[in-house]
Amino acid sequence: MATQRDYYEILGVSKSASQDEIKRSYRKLAMKYHPDRNPDNKEAEDKFKEAAEAYEVLMDDQKRARYDQYGHAGLRGQAGHDFGSMNANDIFDMFGDIFGDMFGGGGRSRSRGGRRAQRGYDLQTETEITLEQVLSGTEREIEFVRKDHCSECKGSGGKPGTDPVACVTCGGVGQVQQAGLGGMFRMVTTCPSCQGAGKKYAENCPKCRGTGTEPKKRIINVKIPAGIHDGQAIRVSGEGEPGENGGPRGDLHVVIRIAEHKLFTRENDHIVMHMPVSFSQAALGAVVKVPTLEGESHELHIKAGTQHGEVFRVSGKGLPNLRSGRRGDMGIVLEIEIPSKLTSEQRELLVKYAETEHFDVMPENKSFWGKIKDYFDSFGN
Ligand SMILES: [Zn+2]
Ligand SMILES: [Zn+2]
Repeated sequence: MATQRDYYEILGVSKSASQDEIKRSYRKLAMKYHPDRNPDNKEAEDKFKEAAEAYEVLMDDQKRARYDQYGHAGLRGQAGHDFGSMNANDIFDMFGDIFGDMFGGGGRSRSRGGRRAQRGYDLQTETEITLEQVLSGTEREIEFVRKDHCSECKGSGGKPGTDPVACVTCGGVGQVQQAGLGGMFRMVTTCPSCQGAGKKYAENCPKCRGTGTEPKKRIINVKIPAGIHDGQAIRVSGEGEPGENGGPRGDLHVVIRIAEHKLFTRENDHIVMHMPVSFSQAALGAVVKVPTLEGESHELHIKAGTQHGEVFRVSGKGLPNLRSGRRGDMGIVLEIEIPSKLTSEQRELLVKYAETEHFDVMPENKSFWGKIKDYFDSFGN
């Protein structure tokens, strides 16, 4: 569109008007010609755009000086918004909160975080390690996807090769004044259009659509200390999402999961194993070999007369404490196995053994259920 009308005339202000006067006048016109208030009115829309164009130039000290000296010709080749090609609603969006507040809409309010540097968001991922790796500590390659600076615009959000231009909404100062309580007082807030930067790109980066970010895969090595517990997280600082306005990155939290072990279960810094032994080993005593987490074998002396479920403790063969590094113990729970099959020789010996216990182990003629019947019959029913 690029109007040739005099900008001061458009805004109805004098050549010596202050920025405040220009702002006030622009607001008045923007309200008057806003498309929401003038549906299907092309003339109003053109006036709305014309005012935005005039406002953009007159609020920029450099552009205003050129315009004062050379008129419209002085602005040729200067980057600025092409309001003519912009949808009125886009202009509306560009001015964001101001209009929302001015029209009492409120629904369009954006966060007023301002230009303050903001730390990026933290991320969380998970990795699984073995109990052996809890013993030794380990290093893990962690692959994850995070929001990162756009590779096309390097995070600026602007179309590559273009430069940002002064923000129309705030005239490049990064702050706007808003009337509160029906003009009773004025509030200075961060410009909602440029978030306080004072500059904006006329065209967005096509790759990230102006967000300045894109998802990127990242692989890092993470050291996992010995003694870590299931569900604990390792914080890798600065590996989260990028901050805003130069703020630092957030952190990455790697949650550790510990895989189930075939032999050992964990109890704090101790490990527990169930070890089958035979009846005779438990009764007579024996030396058995038990595996350790290091993959060695430990000689366990089982004393004669060991009971089912008895626990033997091998000190210092558990896991290291995360803080002190002191190792816990290995607990071995003995489980006495009853043989499911006997050779005839074993059976003979066992019967002989049973006879010494004076137990009636093998009722020759009566079935078990027969004996039960006899038992109840003895009550005289
Ligand atoms: Zn981009
Ligand atoms: Zn601004």
